Amino acid sequence: MTTDPQANGIVTGNDSSLFQTYARYPIALVKGEGSWLWDDKGNQYLDFMAGLAVTNLGHAPVKVKEKLKAQLDELWHVSNLFHIPGQEKAAALLTANTCADAVFFCNSGAEANEAAIKLARRYHQKVKGTDSYEVITFTQSFHGRTLATLTATGQDKVKEGFLPLPAGFLSVPLHDLPALEAAIGNKTAAIMIEMVQAEGGVHPVEPDFIQAVVALCKKHGLLLIVDEVQTGMGRTGKLFAHEHYGIEPDIFTVAKGLGSGFPVGAMLGKAYLRDAFTAGSHATTFGGTPIASAVIQATIETMIEDNVPQRAADAAEYLMAKLDEALGSNPFVKAIRGKGLLIGIECAEPVGDIVVKGQSRGLLFVTAGPNVIRLLPNLYVSKPEIDQAVSILAELIHEFSAIKQG
Ligand SMILES: *Cc1c(COP(=O)(O)O)cnc(C)c1O
Repeated sequence: MTTDPQANGIVTGNDSSLFQTYARYPIALVKGEGSWLWDDKGNQYLDFMAGLAVTNLGHAPVKVKEKLKAQLDELWHVSNLFHIPGQEKAAALLTANTCADAVFFCNSGAEANEAAIKLARRYHQKVKGTDSYEVITFTQSFHGRTLATLTATGQDKVKEGFLPLPAGFLSVPLHDLPALEAAIGNKTAAIMIEMVQAEGGVHPVEPDFIQAVVALCKKHGLLLIVDEVQTGMGRTGKLFAHEHYGIEPDIFTVAKGLGSGFPVGAMLGKAYLRDAFTAGSHATTFGGTPIASAVIQATIETMIEDNVPQRAADAAEYLMAKLDEALGSNPFVKAIRGKGLLIGIECAEPVGDIVVKGQSRGLLFVTAGPNVIRLLPNLYVSKPEIDQAVSILAELIHEFSAIKQG
């Protein structure tokens, strides 16, 4: 293209210089603050998707912004061949506030899960001296788009056209204990699970099931990996969702909310896994650089100082009550479920059109599978903002269900 592709903010198909890997909505967002976004035409939107559970502190949170600006004046990047004081501090903040003892920083959720899978294999092969490598995951799970993590993902749609897939993964249905027991063999190294299957339709794991998984891991000497990429960083009303269940995973991963919008990820693990990751065994150029570490520190400090997980729990209670009141008796709505501010509204039919209609009324939200509306407001969302969102949603769903019945 020789003309200015940004002239109207929206470029599609072969006019775009991008691979068309995303089915993008025809909106170009250019500014954000708190719960609000603006497009290039000046339209304002109430943001109930938070960049897919990324901007948990809202857009442009002041403390994180100030720390990032200060770091920009000091130092941007040095190699992990050197000590990075900010990275140590970010890791110490994470271990002080979780059950983990050690942290590896990377740049995304998929990378954090890759690190978890590699650590589990290496722990078995180098520390325990077994040849176990298999990771059991669950149908409808989502763990990322690298070759290993898309293989771990329990959804066929992400695997299409990418054969051959790496060996060492199998999925069983969530909450099917006999299937899980049958899948465990002498090659099994780990079980990887989300506390709420987010992309897969907003399905919280049953407490009894996760306790049984923990018991199976103990019995067979398997590592429990919890993928907290979407559920972590206060989203569900605890800093990490596994805290709701009173369990301590051997390994857990975090990314989306960890950097308030700056691309970061982390893999956290117990002290007995330290020996598995020795110098040279795993690395990434940009993991925990000074800038990344400053953003992570400021994000966690804000979470702790402002008691953000509790704010999320309180806002969630209010939002759930409002949703029940507005939609609970609507026959089009099959279920309203979730944990904290990760909420799914399961409908009788596909909801893609409702999402688009919502945009034209100034409310942004997403789906989780074809029939589920997914709400992911930032964790500071106010009661008036919740009232406004629920009123728009109720209007949309009532209109939509009337059309379907009429
Ligand atoms: C988004 C997500 C991932 C992948 O994270 P990326 O940063 O996109 O690589 C992995 N697991 C879960 C549960 C997620 O929601």
